[in-house]
Amino acid sequence: MSKKIYSDLGIEPIINAIGSVTLLGGSTQPPEVIDAMQSAQDMYVPMDELEEKAGNYLAELFGAEACYITSGAGSALTLTTAAFMSGDNDDLIVQLPDTTGIKDEILIQSRQRYHYERCLTYAGAKLVEFGSKDQVTKDDLERSIGEKTVAVHYVANETINDPSALTLEDTLEVAKKNNLPVMVDAAGQIYPLSNLSKYSNMGADAVSYAAKYFGAPHSTGFVVGTKDIIRKVALQSFISYEMRRVRGVGRPQKIDRQEIIGAVTAAKIWMNMNHEDRLAKAEKTCSVIASHIKGIEGVNVEIQENTIGHDPHGVRITLTKDGASLIDVQEALKNGNPRIWMRCDQDLDGNYDGNLARISPFGLYPGEDEIVGSRLAEELKKL
Ligand SMILES: *Cc1c(COP(=O)(O)O)cnc(C)c1O
Repeated sequence: MSKKIYSDLGIEPIINAIGSVTLLGGSTQPPEVIDAMQSAQDMYVPMDELEEKAGNYLAELFGAEACYITSGAGSALTLTTAAFMSGDNDDLIVQLPDTTGIKDEILIQSRQRYHYERCLTYAGAKLVEFGSKDQVTKDDLERSIGEKTVAVHYVANETINDPSALTLEDTLEVAKKNNLPVMVDAAGQIYPLSNLSKYSNMGADAVSYAAKYFGAPHSTGFVVGTKDIIRKVALQSFISYEMRRVRGVGRPQKIDRQEIIGAVTAAKIWMNMNHEDRLAKAEKTCSVIASHIKGIEGVNVEIQENTIGHDPHGVRITLTKDGASLIDVQEALKNGNPRIWMRCDQDLDGNYDGNLARISPFGLYPGEDEIVGSRLAEELKKL
């Protein structure tokens, strides 16, 4: 590993204790992924064939009906939304994002308003919120369905148990009764492995995942869904734009053949690796970090038991003394030497109260656990 490639540009690398985040470049590709991408570059193939065969391969790997590789989960959401609105009608495909005369309302529950909903409106859709901030019911969903409703959106996050939100089961029940498709953002729900087909097998029509979470190129993601919707998603893509000369909204969301091969290879590794080993390593990394912090006055530290999702375990830090804020620690680490990024957790309104932080083992290279632990201890003692 050479720092020179970055230092030549005047950039000092970061120690990643925050997890797989877009702001730091996603995840690290295993050597097999890099090798496969290198080989992919030695010849040309028709991109439509590559997309089709790679999608079929992933669908079989996941135990799902069909799959389409996209430029991240963000594009997966955009292409799915466009596919729901225009179907296989070429006139409508070229009309988007102008939705005049097209059913364009996507229903989203109040408790799931979030950062990535912009990926839906990008295609021209309007979001219609249902439910109150406190509680969302089947009746709320039922009542919000109107003339222009085209689909229902659901954000899957199995690491958060929100008893006030409408469940996917209930969402599907009401949507199906009203002949509406359901789209799911399951970007980070890549473990347990059954999650990669679970939501579509439950009846969701199109489920978006981010391949950044399992060592694929950061720029890749995919939609898992029915054969029918996946065919329509493909019609929105940059490939369809060039091959069929039908100008869909997906043209700027291009990926290259190396990235598609990288995503396929990373998925193959992810589905076949020893996850007990992976989780044990994550837990070990966390306990090394926690051992540096234990016993510091006014600081609680625990290793999270969580093994589901893309970012297992984690060191959870809370403060018991008044007037102190973990945001100061976050800032000190960010501006220190070496530079270290960590996460202070937000409340539901997106505010940081500074009393809760989480250190992720996901992006730490060997030996960095000791560095993060000792730097954290140093700063926590100053509070
Ligand atoms: C990361 C993420 C996205 C966006 O995925 P990209 O692959 O970065 O485009 C969307 N939704 C959720 C929940 C995510 O975590």
